[in-house]
Amino acid sequence: MQNYICITCGTQYPASEHAPAQCPICMDDRQYVNRNGQQWTTMAEMRPKYRNLFEEVDPGITAIRTNPGFAIGQQAHLIETANGNVLWDCISYLDDETVAEVRRRGGITMIAISHPHFYSAMIEWSRAFDAPIYLHADNQPWVMRPDAVVQYWEGEAHELLPGMTIVRCGGHFPGSSALHWAGGAGGKGALFTGDTIMVVSDRRYVSFMYSFPNYIPLNARAVRGIVAAVEPYAFDRIYSSWSGNIVAADAKAAVHRSAERYITHIKD
Ligand SMILES: [Zn+2]
Ligand SMILES: [Zn+2]
Repeated sequence: MQNYICITCGTQYPASEHAPAQCPICMDDRQYVNRNGQQWTTMAEMRPKYRNLFEEVDPGITAIRTNPGFAIGQQAHLIETANGNVLWDCISYLDDETVAEVRRRGGITMIAISHPHFYSAMIEWSRAFDAPIYLHADNQPWVMRPDAVVQYWEGEAHELLPGMTIVRCGGHFPGSSALHWAGGAGGKGALFTGDTIMVVSDRRYVSFMYSFPNYIPLNARAVRGIVAAVEPYAFDRIYSSWSGNIVAADAKAAVHRSAERYITHIKD
């Protein structure tokens, strides 16, 4: 029995004798099936070929990603706080070296994930650190490897730890969420956004899409909904979940100006 991992999106599946026939995450409009047909790997098969890189992007914030790049190049953030460490978003690869490196930074108290494109091998990570996983209940249909360690939260916001709140934004997925850390950016507040609010090449701006790989935009109502969801929270910096995608300062204004520009472009 093996826990197969889709090499295109990085999602790990429940243990099975044979690889699943399809990956529903890749079959969905927001993703794509591998151009060579559905392909699978396993953690054991990945071990000789991959390792995880750790990059301290700001004090107490470590980006973790797999090298060479795997699936859609997902990146997780380990956020260290006095009340415990949060792993925001997750990746598919995990090995003993990674576990030791994370433990050296205090381990993981809880895992929270923005949306299904980062569910990856979350159950393996959860078990390695004995950390519960928090997912928005509206995204439950896309949980491919269900497990009792997953806690589903409902509504618009959920306080994970003091000063650390998950905020439902919707848009990309109904339960797409961002993580607000009041203590981030030197106390001005930081937002971790996955690709619900995507930092773009011009890092004064962000974007909002139903599907990034397939260029399917959101409508104005959904974009306004995302802006309204994060409006009550103070934040100066945005970390989205791909390497280097950071709005370094004045990030709330960047969200406003980006939403206006976007809506202007999709208008009739
Ligand atoms: Zn897939
Ligand atoms: Zn996504």
